[in-house]
Amino acid sequence: MSLIVRLAAPFALTLVAACAIVPRADDVAQAEEQAVTPAPLSVPGPSANSATEPTPAGPVTFVFSGELTQGGWIRGQVPAGTRSAKLGEEPLVIDEDGRFFAAFDRDASPDAELTATLVDGRTIRVPVSVSPRAWNLEHINAPLRPGGGSSEAFMRRRRPELDAIWAAREQATDAQGWRQDFIWPVEGRISGRFGSQRIYQGEPGSYHSGLDIAPGAGTPFVAPADGVVVLAARDAPFSLEGHLLIIDHGQGLNSAFLHAQRLDVVEGDRVTQGQQLGLVGATGRVTGPHLHWSIKWHNGARLDPLLFVDPQS
Ligand SMILES: [Zn+2]
Repeated sequence: MSLIVRLAAPFALTLVAACAIVPRADDVAQAEEQAVTPAPLSVPGPSANSATEPTPAGPVTFVFSGELTQGGWIRGQVPAGTRSAKLGEEPLVIDEDGRFFAAFDRDASPDAELTATLVDGRTIRVPVSVSPRAWNLEHINAPLRPGGGSSEAFMRRRRPELDAIWAAREQATDAQGWRQDFIWPVEGRISGRFGSQRIYQGEPGSYHSGLDIAPGAGTPFVAPADGVVVLAARDAPFSLEGHLLIIDHGQGLNSAFLHAQRLDVVEGDRVTQGQQLGLVGATGRVTGPHLHWSIKWHNGARLDPLLFVDPQS
Protein backbone atom coordinates (compact mmCIF):
# COMPACT_ATOMS: atom_id res chain seq x y z
CA MET A 1 0.00 0.00 0.00
CA SER A 2 2.77 2.38 0.93
CA LEU A 3 4.46 1.74 -2.37
CA ILE A 4 1.38 2.73 -4.31
CA VAL A 5 0.77 6.01 -2.56
CA ARG A 6 4.41 7.03 -2.89
CA LEU A 7 4.22 7.01 -6.69
CA ALA A 8 3.89 10.28 -8.57
CA ALA A 9 0.76 11.95 -7.26
CA PRO A 10 -1.60 11.80 -10.29
CA PHE A 11 -0.76 8.16 -10.98
CA ALA A 12 -1.09 7.21 -7.33
CA LEU A 13 -4.47 8.89 -7.11
CA THR A 14 -5.72 6.93 -10.09
CA LEU A 15 -4.52 3.64 -8.64
CA VAL A 16 -5.93 4.30 -5.20
CA ALA A 17 -9.30 5.23 -6.61
CA ALA A 18 -9.41 2.31 -9.00
CA CYS A 19 -8.47 -0.25 -6.36
CA ALA A 20 -10.56 1.36 -3.62
CA ILE A 21 -7.67 0.94 -1.24
CA VAL A 22 -8.69 1.97 2.23
CA PRO A 23 -6.31 4.40 3.93
CA ARG A 24 -5.42 3.56 7.52
CA ALA A 25 -4.96 5.93 10.39
CA ASP A 26 -1.58 4.49 11.24
CA ASP A 27 -0.18 5.00 7.76
CA VAL A 28 1.82 8.15 8.42
CA ALA A 29 3.47 8.11 5.02
CA GLN A 30 0.10 8.16 3.33
CA ALA A 31 -1.09 11.07 5.45
CA GLU A 32 1.92 13.08 4.29
CA GLU A 33 1.26 12.10 0.71
CA GLN A 34 -2.33 13.32 0.91
CA ALA A 35 -1.24 16.63 2.30
CA VAL A 36 0.70 17.46 -0.87
CA THR A 37 -1.63 15.97 -3.51
CA PRO A 38 -3.29 18.71 -5.58
CA ALA A 39 -6.78 17.20 -5.55
CA PRO A 40 -8.70 15.87 -2.54
CA LEU A 41 -8.43 12.12 -2.24
CA SER A 42 -11.85 10.55 -2.16
CA VAL A 43 -12.02 6.93 -1.16
CA PRO A 44 -15.37 5.15 -0.97
CA GLY A 45 -16.28 2.55 1.62
CA PRO A 46 -15.43 2.20 5.28
CA SER A 47 -12.72 4.87 5.22
CA ALA A 48 -15.06 7.56 6.54
CA ASN A 49 -13.93 6.98 10.10
CA SER A 50 -10.26 7.15 9.20
CA ALA A 51 -8.23 9.88 10.82
CA THR A 52 -6.65 10.71 7.46
CA GLU A 53 -10.01 11.40 5.79
CA PRO A 54 -10.96 15.09 6.00
CA THR A 55 -14.48 15.43 7.40
CA PRO A 56 -16.20 18.70 6.39
CA ALA A 57 -17.99 20.35 9.29
CA GLY A 58 -21.72 21.00 9.18
CA PRO A 59 -25.05 19.23 8.84
CA VAL A 60 -25.69 16.38 6.38
CA THR A 61 -28.58 18.28 4.78
CA PHE A 62 -30.05 21.81 4.74
CA VAL A 63 -30.99 23.11 8.17
CA PHE A 64 -33.17 26.22 8.18
CA SER A 65 -36.03 28.07 9.82
CA GLY A 66 -38.08 31.19 9.13
CA GLU A 67 -41.37 32.14 7.51
CA LEU A 68 -42.23 29.48 4.92
CA THR A 69 -44.88 31.47 3.13
CA GLN A 70 -45.27 33.89 0.20
CA GLY A 71 -43.34 37.08 1.00
CA GLY A 72 -41.42 35.19 3.71
CA TRP A 73 -37.83 34.11 4.22
CA ILE A 74 -35.52 31.48 5.70
CA ARG A 75 -32.12 31.51 7.34
CA GLY A 76 -30.04 28.40 7.78
CA GLN A 77 -27.02 26.32 7.01
CA VAL A 78 -26.03 24.41 3.89
CA PRO A 79 -24.96 20.75 4.05
CA ALA A 80 -21.34 19.98 4.94
CA GLY A 81 -19.08 20.04 1.92
CA THR A 82 -21.35 22.31 -0.16
CA ARG A 83 -19.64 23.90 -3.15
CA SER A 84 -22.68 25.87 -4.31
CA ALA A 85 -26.36 26.06 -3.44
CA LYS A 86 -29.54 27.60 -4.80
CA LEU A 87 -33.20 28.18 -4.09
CA GLY A 88 -34.98 27.24 -7.28
CA GLU A 89 -32.73 28.82 -9.89
CA GLU A 90 -31.52 31.59 -7.57
CA PRO A 91 -27.89 31.07 -6.44
CA LEU A 92 -27.39 31.48 -2.70
CA VAL A 93 -24.61 33.45 -1.06
CA ILE A 94 -22.94 31.22 1.55
CA ASP A 95 -20.79 32.68 4.31
CA GLU A 96 -17.61 31.06 5.62
CA ASP A 97 -19.64 29.11 8.21
CA GLY A 98 -22.04 27.76 5.59
CA ARG A 99 -24.89 30.04 6.63
CA PHE A 100 -27.31 31.53 4.10
CA PHE A 101 -30.44 33.64 3.67
CA ALA A 102 -33.17 32.99 1.11
CA ALA A 103 -36.66 34.37 0.52
CA PHE A 104 -39.95 33.77 -1.28
CA ASP A 105 -41.53 36.32 -3.58
CA ARG A 106 -45.09 37.57 -3.01
CA ASP A 107 -46.17 35.30 -5.90
CA ALA A 108 -43.81 32.38 -5.19
CA SER A 109 -45.11 28.95 -6.18
CA PRO A 110 -45.96 26.58 -3.30
CA ASP A 111 -43.27 24.11 -4.36
CA ALA A 112 -39.76 25.44 -3.83
CA GLU A 113 -36.55 23.47 -3.68
CA LEU A 114 -33.16 23.97 -2.08
CA THR A 115 -30.30 22.36 -3.98
CA ALA A 116 -26.70 21.91 -2.86
CA THR A 117 -23.86 20.69 -5.06
CA LEU A 118 -21.19 19.13 -2.88
CA VAL A 119 -17.44 19.13 -3.43
CA ASP A 120 -17.58 15.33 -3.88
CA GLY A 121 -20.01 15.79 -6.77
CA ARG A 122 -23.17 14.73 -4.97
CA THR A 123 -26.34 16.80 -5.14
CA ILE A 124 -28.67 17.26 -2.19
CA ARG A 125 -32.23 18.39 -2.91
CA VAL A 126 -34.68 19.45 -0.22
CA PRO A 127 -38.27 20.33 -1.12
CA VAL A 128 -39.59 23.47 0.58
CA SER A 129 -43.32 23.98 0.90
CA VAL A 130 -44.27 27.68 0.62
CA SER A 131 -47.75 28.30 1.98
CA PRO A 132 -49.96 30.65 -0.08
CA ARG A 133 -51.34 33.89 1.37
CA ALA A 134 -54.82 35.32 1.09
CA TRP A 135 -53.99 38.75 -0.31
CA ASN A 136 -56.41 41.58 0.18
CA LEU A 137 -57.94 42.12 -3.29
CA GLU A 138 -60.21 45.08 -3.95
CA HIS A 139 -62.41 45.00 -7.03
CA ILE A 140 -62.88 48.42 -8.66
CA ASN A 141 -65.56 49.04 -11.26
CA ALA A 142 -63.38 51.38 -13.33
CA PRO A 143 -60.85 50.83 -16.10
CA LEU A 144 -57.14 50.49 -15.25
CA ARG A 145 -55.25 53.80 -15.75
CA PRO A 146 -58.04 56.06 -16.91
CA GLY A 147 -56.84 58.83 -19.20
CA GLY A 148 -53.83 56.95 -20.62
CA GLY A 149 -50.34 56.19 -19.33
CA SER A 150 -47.44 58.32 -18.18
CA SER A 151 -46.49 61.40 -20.18
CA GLU A 152 -43.21 61.64 -22.06
CA ALA A 153 -42.08 64.50 -19.85
CA PHE A 154 -42.71 62.42 -16.74
CA MET A 155 -40.78 59.44 -18.13
CA ARG A 156 -37.81 61.68 -18.96
CA ARG A 157 -37.59 62.51 -15.26
CA ARG A 158 -38.51 59.03 -14.12
CA ARG A 159 -36.02 56.96 -16.13
CA PRO A 160 -32.84 58.09 -14.27
CA GLU A 161 -34.65 57.61 -10.95
CA LEU A 162 -35.52 54.02 -11.84
CA ASP A 163 -31.94 53.42 -13.00
CA ALA A 164 -30.60 54.75 -9.69
CA ILE A 165 -32.96 52.52 -7.70
CA TRP A 166 -32.03 49.47 -9.73
CA ALA A 167 -28.29 50.16 -9.45
CA ALA A 168 -28.57 50.68 -5.69
CA ARG A 169 -30.39 47.40 -5.17
CA GLU A 170 -27.83 45.55 -7.31
CA GLN A 171 -25.05 46.60 -4.93
CA ALA A 172 -23.62 43.74 -2.89
CA THR A 173 -22.11 44.94 0.37
CA ASP A 174 -20.61 42.99 3.26
CA ALA A 175 -23.40 44.11 5.61
CA GLN A 176 -24.40 41.50 8.19
CA GLY A 177 -27.94 42.64 9.03
CA TRP A 178 -29.38 39.58 7.29
CA ARG A 179 -28.33 37.56 10.35
CA GLN A 180 -30.42 39.66 12.75
CA ASP A 181 -34.01 39.60 13.93
CA PHE A 182 -35.43 42.82 12.50
CA ILE A 183 -37.02 45.54 14.62
CA TRP A 184 -39.73 48.03 13.60
CA PRO A 185 -38.24 51.14 11.95
CA VAL A 186 -41.01 53.04 13.72
CA GLU A 187 -44.23 51.93 15.38
CA GLY A 188 -47.60 53.38 14.42
CA ARG A 189 -50.92 52.75 12.72
CA ILE A 190 -50.66 50.40 9.73
CA SER A 191 -52.22 52.35 6.86
CA GLY A 192 -51.35 49.92 4.06
CA ARG A 193 -50.39 46.25 3.95
CA PHE A 194 -47.94 44.44 1.73
CA GLY A 195 -49.42 42.54 -1.19
CA SER A 196 -52.85 44.14 -1.34
CA GLN A 197 -54.06 44.78 -4.86
CA ARG A 198 -56.83 46.50 -6.79
CA ILE A 199 -58.52 44.70 -9.67
CA TYR A 200 -59.92 47.11 -12.29
CA GLN A 201 -62.79 45.47 -14.14
CA GLY A 202 -60.96 42.16 -14.00
CA GLU A 203 -57.57 43.65 -14.82
CA PRO A 204 -55.10 43.50 -11.91
CA GLY A 205 -53.24 46.68 -11.02
CA SER A 206 -49.82 46.49 -9.42
CA TYR A 207 -49.92 45.29 -5.82
CA HIS A 208 -48.74 47.31 -2.82
CA SER A 209 -45.04 46.50 -2.51
CA GLY A 210 -44.46 47.52 1.09
CA LEU A 211 -45.87 48.15 4.52
CA ASP A 212 -47.22 51.64 5.29
CA ILE A 213 -46.71 52.88 8.85
CA ALA A 214 -48.33 56.19 9.81
CA PRO A 215 -46.97 57.48 13.15
CA GLY A 216 -47.33 61.14 12.15
CA ALA A 217 -45.07 63.51 10.20
CA GLY A 218 -41.71 64.27 11.81
CA THR A 219 -41.49 61.00 13.78
CA PRO A 220 -37.94 59.58 13.67
CA PHE A 221 -37.46 56.17 12.07
CA VAL A 222 -34.53 53.81 12.65
CA ALA A 223 -32.63 51.01 10.91
CA PRO A 224 -34.49 47.68 11.35
CA ALA A 225 -31.15 45.84 11.05
CA ASP A 226 -27.49 46.61 10.39
CA GLY A 227 -26.66 47.71 6.87
CA VAL A 228 -24.96 50.00 4.39
CA VAL A 229 -26.73 52.99 2.79
CA VAL A 230 -26.78 52.33 -0.96
CA LEU A 231 -29.14 55.17 -1.93
CA ALA A 232 -30.12 58.38 -0.11
CA ALA A 233 -32.14 60.93 -2.10
CA ARG A 234 -31.42 63.69 0.42
CA ASP A 235 -31.43 66.80 -1.74
CA ALA A 236 -33.67 66.08 -4.75
CA PRO A 237 -36.72 63.99 -3.81
CA PHE A 238 -37.73 61.34 -6.33
CA SER A 239 -40.98 61.92 -8.19
CA LEU A 240 -42.88 59.02 -6.57
CA GLU A 241 -40.74 57.95 -3.60
CA GLY A 242 -39.82 61.45 -2.38
CA HIS A 243 -36.77 61.39 -0.10
CA LEU A 244 -35.92 57.73 -0.68
CA LEU A 245 -33.48 55.68 1.39
CA ILE A 246 -32.24 52.17 0.58
CA ILE A 247 -30.23 50.11 3.08
CA ASP A 248 -28.43 46.92 2.05
CA HIS A 249 -28.44 44.22 4.77
CA GLY A 250 -26.11 41.82 2.91
CA GLN A 251 -26.82 38.54 1.08
CA GLY A 252 -28.97 40.41 -1.44
CA LEU A 253 -31.45 41.58 1.21
CA ASN A 254 -32.37 45.26 1.35
CA SER A 255 -34.88 47.70 2.81
CA ALA A 256 -36.30 50.81 1.14
CA PHE A 257 -37.94 53.69 3.03
CA LEU A 258 -40.10 56.14 1.10
CA HIS A 259 -41.60 59.61 1.56
CA ALA A 260 -39.21 60.77 4.33
CA GLN A 261 -39.39 64.38 5.46
CA ARG A 262 -35.64 64.32 6.10
CA LEU A 263 -32.78 61.81 5.81
CA ASP A 264 -29.97 61.75 8.39
CA VAL A 265 -27.53 59.43 6.59
CA VAL A 266 -25.61 59.53 3.31
CA GLU A 267 -24.66 56.92 0.74
CA GLY A 268 -21.85 54.68 1.97
CA ASP A 269 -22.74 55.10 5.66
CA ARG A 270 -22.72 51.97 7.77
CA VAL A 271 -25.76 51.93 10.02
CA THR A 272 -26.52 49.75 13.01
CA GLN A 273 -29.86 48.35 14.10
CA GLY A 274 -31.83 51.04 15.93
CA GLN A 275 -29.81 53.97 14.53
CA GLN A 276 -31.95 56.96 13.47
CA LEU A 277 -32.17 57.27 9.68
CA GLY A 278 -34.51 60.22 9.23
CA LEU A 279 -38.00 61.56 9.84
CA VAL A 280 -41.31 60.25 8.53
CA GLY A 281 -42.83 62.61 5.97
CA ALA A 282 -45.09 63.05 2.95
CA THR A 283 -42.66 63.66 0.07
CA GLY A 284 -43.29 62.13 -3.37
CA ARG A 285 -46.67 60.76 -4.40
CA VAL A 286 -48.66 60.33 -1.19
CA THR A 287 -52.07 61.16 0.23
CA GLY A 288 -50.71 61.71 3.74
CA PRO A 289 -47.56 61.35 5.84
CA HIS A 290 -46.36 57.76 6.31
CA LEU A 291 -43.31 55.56 6.03
CA HIS A 292 -43.52 53.03 3.21
CA TRP A 293 -41.11 50.19 4.10
CA SER A 294 -40.37 47.62 1.42
CA ILE A 295 -37.97 44.68 1.50
CA LYS A 296 -36.46 42.95 -1.51
CA TRP A 297 -34.15 40.00 -2.01
CA HIS A 298 -31.81 39.69 -5.01
CA ASN A 299 -33.53 42.60 -6.73
CA GLY A 300 -36.43 40.35 -7.65
CA ALA A 301 -38.34 38.84 -4.75
CA ARG A 302 -40.61 41.29 -2.93
CA LEU A 303 -41.04 40.41 0.73
CA ASP A 304 -43.54 41.23 3.45
CA PRO A 305 -41.94 43.38 6.21
CA LEU A 306 -44.57 42.10 8.67
CA LEU A 307 -42.90 38.68 8.44
CA PHE A 308 -39.59 40.14 9.64
CA VAL A 309 -40.75 41.72 12.89
CA ASP A 310 -42.60 40.78 16.06
CA PRO A 311 -46.04 42.35 16.65
CA GLN A 312 -45.89 45.99 17.73
CA SER A 313 -45.50 46.56 21.45
ZN1 LIG B 1 -46.95 52.26 0.58
